[in-house]
Amino acid sequence: AGFTVAIVGRPNVGKSTLFNRLLEQRKAIVDDVSGVTRDRQYGVADWNGKTFNVIDTGGFVSNSDDVFEREIRKQVKIAMEEANALIFMCDVATGITDLDADVADLLRRSSKPVFLVVNKVDNSDRRLEATEFYALGFENVHFLSSMTGSGTGELLDDITALI
Ligand code: GDP
Ligand code: MG
Repeated sequence: AGFTVAIVGRPNVGKSTLFNRLLEQRKAIVDDVSGVTRDRQYGVADWNGKTFNVIDTGGFVSNSDDVFEREIRKQVKIAMEEANALIFMCDVATGITDLDADVADLLRRSSKPVFLVVNKVDNSDRRLEATEFYALGFENVHFLSSMTGSGTGELLDDITALI
């Protein structure tokens, strides 16, 4: 029970880093290698006296691009069903990829709130580059550095405003 937020997006964008930060404890495995988080991770976050569940959707390892894309789409669809709101994470360092655009297409059809989080916005140059992500067409956009924690407070304010 309770309000649930799922973090979706392609591997290596920083989903588990944000998950850990929201929980402020090391439940997910973060690694430089894509797809290290094999399974979905569940945790509970607290912000200003409000509590909500967080799901970190795992990466997936496959030697076939088709299977890989299908698995990510499957994870997004499951998340859209079981969560009350979604964090769609992208990575400013790579820019918008085809897979990001695919996930965006799925999420735009959701009736649930979607927070587009552009991650790895570690400095002001990256903040300028990050404006390209407005092209994905989401109203609710956050620029974050999950590594430093910059921007996470505003995201938590917006999420908990829904509870
Ligand atoms: P996931 O596959 O989406 O769960 O991504 P991870 O959380 O495992 O992160 C993938 C890599 O990106 C790791 O090397 C992280 O340290 C790095 N990373 C995550 N967040 C940031 C960030 O805000 N800035 C930078 N520069 N690197 C980050
Ligand atoms: Mg992960």
